[in-house]
Parts: sequence; C-alpha cells; structure tokens
Amino acid sequence: MATYSNPETIVLHGGSHRADPNTGSVAVPIHQTTSFQFQDTGHAARLFGLAELGNIYTRIMNPTQDALETRITALEGGAAALAVASGQSATAFTVLNLTEPGDNIVSSTDLYGGTWNLFANTLKQMGVEVRFVDPADPEAFARATDARTRAYYAETLPNPKLQVFPIGEVAAIGRKLGVPLIMDNTAAPIICKPLQHGAAVVMHSTTKWIGGHGTSIGGIVVDGGNFDWEAGGDRFPTLNKPDPSYHGAVWTQAVKPLGPIAYILRMRTCLLRDLGAATSPFNAFMHIQGLETLPLRLERHCANAIKVAAHLAKHPAVTTVIHPSLQTGESKRRADAYLRGGYGSLIGFEVKSGVEGGKRFIDALKMFYHVANIGDARSLAIHPASTTHSQLSEEEQRASGVTPGYVRLSIGIEHIDDIIADLDQALAAAG
Ligand code: PLP
Repeated sequence: MATYSNPETIVLHGGSHRADPNTGSVAVPIHQTTSFQFQDTGHAARLFGLAELGNIYTRIMNPTQDALETRITALEGGAAALAVASGQSATAFTVLNLTEPGDNIVSSTDLYGGTWNLFANTLKQMGVEVRFVDPADPEAFARATDARTRAYYAETLPNPKLQVFPIGEVAAIGRKLGVPLIMDNTAAPIICKPLQHGAAVVMHSTTKWIGGHGTSIGGIVVDGGNFDWEAGGDRFPTLNKPDPSYHGAVWTQAVKPLGPIAYILRMRTCLLRDLGAATSPFNAFMHIQGLETLPLRLERHCANAIKVAAHLAKHPAVTTVIHPSLQTGESKRRADAYLRGGYGSLIGFEVKSGVEGGKRFIDALKMFYHVANIGDARSLAIHPASTTHSQLSEEEQRASGVTPGYVRLSIGIEHIDDIIADLDQALAAAG
C-alpha cells in the first residue's frame, strides 16, 4: 500500500482501497452484505480467534467501512480506526472503552450539547462520572485527576465559544499523569491534526464536514497508536485485565502481533459487537465520497468564513462576532498554534435587537437553511438556546457559551456575494 503525506492525496488514495481486486472498480464498492463466506473451517476459526483479521459480519467490519477507516486513519496520522453509526456513538465508545462503574473522565465544559447530555446524564446513569473543567486553564485537568481518571475529553474548535482547545498543553499534562487525551476533531478536519500535538485518540462526527453534503449520519474513532496503555496498567483495566467475553484475552497483549491497536481493537470486538452501533456500508460510501473532496471544500468554507466574520464585525446591527480570525491574545495564539490553513467555518454572533431580533433574523433568511446541522456544503443557521442547547438548563447553556440572543452560522461554499447578500437582508429584518 503506497503512503502519502499530503491530505489532498490521502483523501483520494489513502488507506486500503485501490482498484477492487475482483472487478477493477475504481470507486469504493458498496459491500451491501451482512456476512462473508469463510474459505474453510480453519479460516473461520482463525478469524474468530483474532489470529487473522478479516470480514465476518457487517456489524463488526465490512470492506466499505474499512476503506473509510483506513483513509481517515491516514489523514489523522493514526494507527487504526473504527467507523460507527453516528458521532454520538463514536463519543460514547471512546469513553465506554476505558471506563467501568466508579471511574471518571475529565472533560472540557466547551462541548456540543448532545455530548454534554451524554456526559452529564447517560454516563452518570452508567456509573461513570464526568468532571467538567474550564479549558482556559489547562492545569484544571490535572487538578481534577485522580487514580480512577481514565481519560480527558475535549473538542478542537467547540461551538459556540469557538476557542481552540489547548491540545498540546492538556495532552502533555495527561501524558505525565498517564491519562490519554481524546479529541473531538469534527469541526477542524484537515486544518488540525490533534495526534501530532499529543492527543491519543481522535473522533469525528462524519455527518458534518467529512460527509459534507448533509446526507448521512456517521462517526469515526481513530486510535493514535501513540499511547502506552500497558504502562498505566491499573488505570486501564479494560485493556490490561483478562476479558471474560473473549476467553480471558488481555487486549494489550493479544494485539502485539497486530500493532499498537489495543484500544481500537477492543472497541470493535467488544463494544461494537455488543452494542451494535454499526454504520451501514451505504453511509460509509457516502462519507468516502465526501472525504474525497474535503480539502477543496474546506479551503472555500474557511475563506468564506473569514470574509463573513469581517463583514459582520463592522455591521451596525451586530454587537458581537465570534470567529477565531477575530480573536486576540491567548485565544488567537491557540488558534494559530493548532490550526493550519483556516479557522473553520463556524461563526457565532449576537444581533443588537436581542432574542426577538435573533429569531426575526433566522425567520428572514432566504438562502441559508435553518437546521440543526453544521458542516454542510450549504450555508446553515440556527438559534442554539431554543434548539440544540434547549435540553440544558440556562446555567448549563451559559457555561457552554450559549447566550439567549446567540445565532450560529455554518458557512457553506456558495459564492461569497450571495452569502453576504442573504445575511444583510436578514439583518435588516432583524432590526
Ligand atoms: N460532535 C460534534 C462537535 C457535533 O457537532 C456533533 C453533532 O452535531 C456530534 C459530535 C454528534 O454527531 P452525530 O450527530 O453524527 O451523532
């Protein structure tokens, strides 16, 4: 398999797929099958015993999923990946793969609302405590760590605050204490490589920029292969103690002939097997299609966003604009340290006319879609307090940066003049 270092080439040629060996198909085929014929009983036994990795059943692996997984692994510079049904299941798996009841993780407060709910409520019901800390102070992660802390969790470019997470600082603290950093890199594919800055695991909601066309839900987890799970034996019982569901296998030992993939292999063979959050081959195909043009689209997303942020910043109907291109001080330093080639395409702003003005603005948009999504090729807008963050208390909303009049934009790849014209006419209606 040839390897490439440039993202523009990796998205087209990276990973396991070249031409299909049976048909010569250049596009990745959609292997819409539940199961795969074994060559003989010995082959079947080797696959089930993990003596050989191969396709058994699509809930656990599939060649279309594999093409997506190996390409995104190459893009992020990791060791191996697992594609799953949604970004939510990817996040849940990143934590559940390391935790048992009584354990905890330390998470940034700056999170997607769905992740906040998962952490504050569902994981709590499962006996896993999530300790939320302010990412402005990286040392807060150290202070919240104890012997049962299994991971740190954060988003690279979290909305609504859009302040880039101090990846290197927190990863270094974690490595000193033996705690891996898991990064949600959904909003910054290509422009940020968290593994290069010391993160151990990266996840994406592929639903967003990677899919890029608003058609399919999906998620992926990439194992950096750069964290020593064995060294922190007591801290990682799920990887270092015999697994009764796999004939007493100890994952850090069992994977030795296969490479540094204990974390992701256990996620596939235990969590995906048991919880079944598999992505369909069709959705994996859709996300490969999106991935192939991601670098080009992202360039336009980012360039348009910088222009929109500058335009809104001098607009008389707007009070505050949030975008890394406009930040100063420590926030700007972090944006420049961790992002390359753009500042992402999310923008937050507040209209002068408050909550009601914000609603009038949304209702007046003609080209922007009013939807609960981000990262579509089309421009999107939403009022988080009444939608994506509505299940949070007002206090929780404010802690995650959502004020009542805040509007979120996900800038698309349309012509910049048409984007600005739609915003201007809606701002005029907002009053
Ligand atoms: N992470 C981030 C940053 C998101 O914005 C989202 C969804 O909006 C998710 C995770 C969850 O992804 P999905 O909707 O694919 O489950």
